Amino acid sequence: MAYGGTKFELRGRVYWPRTPVERLQHFCPRFCPWPDCPAHHAAGRPTGFRRHGSYATRRRPAVPRFRCAACRRIFSRQSFAVSFYLKRPELLLPVAAGLQAGSAQRQIARSLGCAPSTVTRLSARLGRHSLLLLARSLRHLEGRLQEPVVLDHFETFEFTQDFPFGIATPVGRHSWFVYGLDPAPHARSGARSPAQRARLAARPLRPRRGGYVASSSRVLRLLLSLRSVHRPLDLVSDGHPAYDRAVQGCGRPAAVRLHRFPNPPRGPKGAPRSAAAIARDRALFPVDALHALLRHTAAHHRRETIAFGRRLDALMERLFLTVLWRNFVKGRSERRPDLTIPAMRLGLTSERWSWRRVLARRLFPGRENVPPTWRDLYNRNWTTPTLPFNTRHRLHQAY
Ligand SMILES: [Zn+2]
Repeated sequence: MAYGGTKFELRGRVYWPRTPVERLQHFCPRFCPWPDCPAHHAAGRPTGFRRHGSYATRRRPAVPRFRCAACRRIFSRQSFAVSFYLKRPELLLPVAAGLQAGSAQRQIARSLGCAPSTVTRLSARLGRHSLLLLARSLRHLEGRLQEPVVLDHFETFEFTQDFPFGIATPVGRHSWFVYGLDPAPHARSGARSPAQRARLAARPLRPRRGGYVASSSRVLRLLLSLRSVHRPLDLVSDGHPAYDRAVQGCGRPAAVRLHRFPNPPRGPKGAPRSAAAIARDRALFPVDALHALLRHTAAHHRRETIAFGRRLDALMERLFLTVLWRNFVKGRSERRPDLTIPAMRLGLTSERWSWRRVLARRLFPGRENVPPTWRDLYNRNWTTPTLPFNTRHRLHQAY
């Protein structure tokens, strides 16, 4: 079967195999896994790979090896697996599921009998994999986006509430598909005590990278690249001025129709909603539902919790995993039950995916068309200066 080829990419569907590569009887590489090899970017028919024996592990009796004719280097079937280089590959699935089941990392480690740092590392790998898989899905939507998109920022913080940031979450009005994520670090607002002000002044500065406006502009650029050429992009927002400024600054204001639903004043808890409040809630429902889901399923985004995210990069990795789960794994509504998934509404797939299927293949960053911000997040370049260590992701082989 073609992996990353075009044979199965007809009618806008993402070709994504059901069987994990580790279980394939007759595996045939389609490209070289070494990123600096000319055969790495090959697509279509496989050429220039010869069998080069095999090796045995405790789990698999014979893992086939191959030699690349272009670079003369050797690789194995395992180079194409998400579990590549892992000592405990069996942990990937339960960790992915546990991260979306409201568990914090130490709780997952306790249940699975592994070190908490193992869960941290797997969470990062799962996040990077989800980011690339989402980028690949978006490639299939280019020129096909017709539904209105609801855009709002999800508020959270890294390490301490002194370092807040919003995360842009564009959600399809009808499909509920999450089209991406984009962080927007901003200054802490609200009243602060003198002690809090002194503590904040002593903290190292962190780059703002344009805050809400730049974040909204990046999302707008992404959405415009997906927009159907026959109609303008309908963008629904809560009236935050950043969205107006992003639309004005996008260079193609005629290509975007901005629908504003400002947050109206609301009475005391339990008071009936005004007509304006009902209209706002109806228009922004898909994004409000996503934010409620994030607060409900991700332990570090709960209100009243001692779990919290330490660094923006790691938070974003875990959120990409959540978005992938939202788009491809979780049914739209479990209460009704509506077991279709957002990606089915967009024609990206014909069925729900299991975690096993999500992790069926490894993706290579050099072969995917990834937005620049996402590539920075993939490499862990949005560092948290207040932390003593900020390791960038520079691994090629261990990925
Ligand atoms: Zn090669």
